[in-house]
Amino acid sequence: MTAIEARIDKLTSAVILLPAQETIQIAGAGPAGLVAAITLARAGRSVVVHEAKAEVGHRFQGDLQGLENWSTQQDVLAVMREQGITTEFDKIPSISGTAFDAWGKAYEIKSPEPLFYTVERGPGPGTLDTTLLHQAQELGVEVRFNSRLRKIEGAGILAAGPQAADAIAVGFHFETDMENGFWAICDNNLAPKGYAYLLTMNGIGTVKSCMFTDFTRQRVYVQRTIEAFEKLVGLRMHNPHPHSGIGNFRIPKSAIHGRHPIVGEQAGLQDTLWGFGMRYAMTSGVLAAQCLLNGQDYDRQWRIVLGKQLLASVVNRIFYGHVPNRGYRWFLQYTTQRGDARGFLHKLYKQSPFKRLMLPWLNRYYKSQYQELNCPDEACMCVQCRCGRPPRSHAISP
Ligand SMILES: Cc1cc2nc3c(=O)[nH]c(=O)nc-3n(C[C@H](O)[C@H](O)[C@H](O)COP(=O)(O)OP(=O)(O)OC[C@H]3O[C@@H](n4cnc5c(N)ncnc54)[C@H](O)[C@@H]3O)c2cc1C
Repeated sequence: MTAIEARIDKLTSAVILLPAQETIQIAGAGPAGLVAAITLARAGRSVVVHEAKAEVGHRFQGDLQGLENWSTQQDVLAVMREQGITTEFDKIPSISGTAFDAWGKAYEIKSPEPLFYTVERGPGPGTLDTTLLHQAQELGVEVRFNSRLRKIEGAGILAAGPQAADAIAVGFHFETDMENGFWAICDNNLAPKGYAYLLTMNGIGTVKSCMFTDFTRQRVYVQRTIEAFEKLVGLRMHNPHPHSGIGNFRIPKSAIHGRHPIVGEQAGLQDTLWGFGMRYAMTSGVLAAQCLLNGQDYDRQWRIVLGKQLLASVVNRIFYGHVPNRGYRWFLQYTTQRGDARGFLHKLYKQSPFKRLMLPWLNRYYKSQYQELNCPDEACMCVQCRCGRPPRSHAISP
């Protein structure tokens, strides 16, 4: 056992045992909940997924997102297939794109292998959400729509999505005659402490300002983002629809509430640097289901599989969130000089001696908006706990 694993071992908490015939209730039909359901159903378990909305992916409605391909050496699609998760959703591999600094200088971001796969989110055909839903249903999972779970009495998994806004992404979905591609602008005047981005795939597009602060001025930032993309890449939007969403990032002290594992963004398991949360959601969904099946300690497992990457993303955020536009320019120059953006990002999301040195300062420099509830009831059944004592401020446990 390595020193880090030994430290992680000390933090382990209760193992949850799943009686063989018990139906497992899952709160939330996002990628985290559906992937957990698929994993359990593939092992022959009876599963009911409750979804508060009338359809899957309701909060996304045609959003284009990047399924990142840098956190593992193995291609993300191969990882998913190995985990028994379908990859039949519509997607395009994104091998090269363009990022701009605040002065409008272009940097080609390219990689020999896909940096990410552009996918569509929401209830429509071919989206990630619909494809996962169909796989779950074909495996016998019952999905109940318009069913907001407040408590889970027996075995269950909490997968209810973000609980607070640490970042927001605001902009438009639209139809377009632009070619497939991705573009980003690193400029605090367009997206404070974040980035502005434009994704297009097969005649549709998404343009957003993804900001980590100053949310009240979101209209100004969106307007500037649209104008910048019109000027820099000739953005053409037809039939635009406003769209926005929140992201919640934190490293939880424990991702078990009462007797239930918490997966995906409900646990705060997200990429704190830029908000590429889909893989964290699906990985934690698989892990939670496997832990229920095998009697393993879920807190120990997610720390082993995701812990280092999560910590690296928080350290990255601390730096990214504190540099001015000149710092982004240096970052873009450095990334593009390497020629292999995927390899560069793979290293960026890894632990390093320097990042380990930062651990004592994490709580000082990064705080989630989410206030972890100190629930007095160890057997609490709440899906979104409201019975805790007054919230205390959040602390990151390395
Ligand atoms: C605008 C935007 C752009 C993004 N872009 C990217 C990207 O490019 N790449 C990337 O990897 N990630 C991206 N993300 C993040 C990614 O979408 C999320 O991390 C991911 O969807 C989290 O999955 P989840 O299953 O944890 O939660 P969700 O997808 O939010 O699913 C949770 C589900 O639970 C349901 N629910 C809530 N409460 C209850 C309840 N009590 N009972 C029953 N159901 C309930 C909700 O209706 C919802 O359907 C983006 C997010 C936003 C907002």
